[in-house]
Amino acid sequence: MTQVPDLTKPSSTVSVRNASLPKAAAVLAEQIRAQILGQGLEPGSQLPSEPELIAQSGLGRATVREAIRILEGQGLIMIKRGSRGGMFVAQPDLSSLSHTLAPVLTLSKAPLRDLTTYRLMVEPPAAGLAASNASESDRADLLKLAEHGPGPGFVNEVRFHERVAVLSGNELLRALVVVPNDLLREHLKGESIDAHDVDEANEAHLAIARAIVAGDAARATKTMTRHLEAFEARMSREARLDRPIVSQEQWLREAAGSFGFDR
Ligand SMILES: [Zn+2]
Repeated sequence: MTQVPDLTKPSSTVSVRNASLPKAAAVLAEQIRAQILGQGLEPGSQLPSEPELIAQSGLGRATVREAIRILEGQGLIMIKRGSRGGMFVAQPDLSSLSHTLAPVLTLSKAPLRDLTTYRLMVEPPAAGLAASNASESDRADLLKLAEHGPGPGFVNEVRFHERVAVLSGNELLRALVVVPNDLLREHLKGESIDAHDVDEANEAHLAIARAIVAGDAARATKTMTRHLEAFEARMSREARLDRPIVSQEQWLREAAGSFGFDR
């Protein structure tokens, strides 16, 4: 059994012991986060248990639990139940970013046009990089994904674009494509997509994948641009560009429980 690190070692001059509960929890969470990142702990590394954290920090159970909840919400740690359970460093996952971005964009009433404009700025260069950087096996897999054709509900549509971003080999670019594309997935859930549109997307994906397989960065960039322009034009024809990315109806469908505000 490997020694679990003491994550509450004073990494700064801030003392958490005399602070009130929510603040103490936030400060403890910040210290633990700094230790995980500062010590370069790998995803999957075991962290101290709740009782160990209580002993190490000298704080109460409620404060330590709140700190754990904060770190979980930030996607930095994960809790596994059961005999081999405990607290572990989480695998890097962008979905917590999407969960934060979606409500912010809805509250600020960002229209779909913001997303289509943004994609045109980011995704064509990502496709160009993929054509230059992707490994042989990744190229072959991308072509297979494009040849497979879109699944129900346009599942492959978003997946294909995310794969291209991954193949760019640039972690930041990957995040900047994957996070907004999670919003696109939400948007597409609420759209009716006919067979013609599916065919168009399918052919476009094939053209992009072939350019990437051929290592032709200029052609990959151009075919991606054309594909995204076609999507934007279709949304424009349907008068969708000035409406919210994720509609209010979509949020309410997600709420689909008994909870509702009385107004
Ligand atoms: Zn597409």
